[in-house]
Amino acid sequence: PGMGCQVRNGGRDMTIDSRDITDLLDPADIADGPLAVRSPIDGAPLGRVPLDDSAAVAARIGRAHEAFLHWRTVPAPRRGELIRLLGEELRANKQALGRLVTLECGKSIQEGYGEVQEMIDICDFAVGLSRQLYGLTIASERPGHRMMETWHPLGVVGVISAFNFPVAVWSWNAALALVCGNPVVWKPSEKTPLTALACRTLFRRAVERFGADAPEGLLEVVIGDRAAGEALVDDPRVPLVSATGSTRMGREVAPRVAARFGRSILELGGNNAMIVTPAADLDLAVRAILFAAVGTAGQRCTTLRRLIVHVDVYDRLLPRLKAAYAQVTIGNPLEEGNLLGPLIDRGAYEAMQRALDAARVQGGTVTGGERVLAERWPDAYYVRPAIAEMRGQTACVREETFAPILYTLTYRDLDEAVALQNAVPQGLSSCIFTNDLREAERFLSAAGSDCGIANVNIGPSGAEIGGAFGGEKETGGGRESGSDSWKAYMRRQTATVNYSGSLPLAQGIRFDV
Ligand code: NAD
Repeated sequence: PGMGCQVRNGGRDMTIDSRDITDLLDPADIADGPLAVRSPIDGAPLGRVPLDDSAAVAARIGRAHEAFLHWRTVPAPRRGELIRLLGEELRANKQALGRLVTLECGKSIQEGYGEVQEMIDICDFAVGLSRQLYGLTIASERPGHRMMETWHPLGVVGVISAFNFPVAVWSWNAALALVCGNPVVWKPSEKTPLTALACRTLFRRAVERFGADAPEGLLEVVIGDRAAGEALVDDPRVPLVSATGSTRMGREVAPRVAARFGRSILELGGNNAMIVTPAADLDLAVRAILFAAVGTAGQRCTTLRRLIVHVDVYDRLLPRLKAAYAQVTIGNPLEEGNLLGPLIDRGAYEAMQRALDAARVQGGTVTGGERVLAERWPDAYYVRPAIAEMRGQTACVREETFAPILYTLTYRDLDEAVALQNAVPQGLSSCIFTNDLREAERFLSAAGSDCGIANVNIGPSGAEIGGAFGGEKETGGGRESGSDSWKAYMRRQTATVNYSGSLPLAQGIRFDV
């Protein structure tokens, strides 16, 4: 509309004003390419985007590498200024970008705005960080010597992201990478290229305001599927690949990066649990379960998938939970009142149905899970959130199915609950609901949860950016976002300076002729 690009107004079902969204998309970027982008809201096309072949990916990496040679010499606090400006652009465009997130990946509009807020938060964090890339000074064993540790820029950072957090995951990586002196080559999910192109527009605006010392090529966006990702993964000019997505993807990416001695940050699948003890505040627990299991249609890496409830509480909790589930409003996620939008596509719906069939075969009792709104939107996949009451932690419970399925289990003593919670291949997020200090501390102890994230009286999803984010085991072991995650984006140099006039060797070794 007006801008020559093809983002659709949405027709009568959509309540969007598309002008501010199309302003985020450069018509030159949205030529009539081979990649068709569809909105999961109604399955209708949003536009067609050109794809990068492997030669184009290599050229983008080359531009980013050229940019690195200059950017690494720009003082870090000055690099922080670019991220401050990016944060301003995000603040000014929060509504439009948030709506585009909802339009392209189907999460509720509140969560669309929340995702952009998370980008703003990480920009603020990174601006402060740009003055705090501290190294150590270390006591030397030799007289007249000084030893220190300096963190230097690393090089081009490759970012591969998933459809479900189409923009926030990029910003966690990019804000840190850029203040650390590294350009970014970003391959977004092929399901969500428009939000990535919109981020590039905002980044370009920040670069324009920043001035001449920002080189071309600080952010390159690669549009493509797995093949484009592989071109990025295999390129030796990319010393760090930060990849977010399924464990299947991580299993392919990690050995390829390792084979060329590159580094990777892997943020893969989760299978997150909540333990509800007899000492839990059930009001809090029900609210937490609802958001964590149903929010984003169960398509968060941190979605609550397993509920491990003490046998004495189970019969009180489950009816309340089912009553809360029955009140969840399902529908067009652009409308504020709807809590549950669509699944990303037909494939996700079919995977959900397969998992529910398996749950039944494996002895479970399933409530919900059926498709709704199919007459209104035959090409979109809305479902009722499902609860599968299981008798044990069977095969389907140990897998991540990216849909709103909550498996419930019971336990008798806390050690058993913790063992159940840890007995899955994934290790992302976990939580306990209890007002008993001993239970909470046992859960957080070395013998407690084995996950990267462990919460008390908070659900497993919706982390703040200030902490390091990531998980263990098949979740991949990476950490992003806050705390000292920035160190993964830099190279550490140990330097020793001799100002003594003699040459004492370490460990007292003598080597004189
Ligand atoms: P996906 O694995 O299908 O795709 C993720 C990205 O990897 C896409 O950009 C895709 O094109 C790319 N890709 C796939 N195979 C590749 C290969 N061999 N080489 C290089 N790139 C490749 O995941 P998805 O369906 O988009 O996202 C859902 C998954 O992501 C879930 O498993 C979820 O738990 C996980 N996830 C994890 C986190 C986290 O921080 N741990 C965050 C969000 C999503």
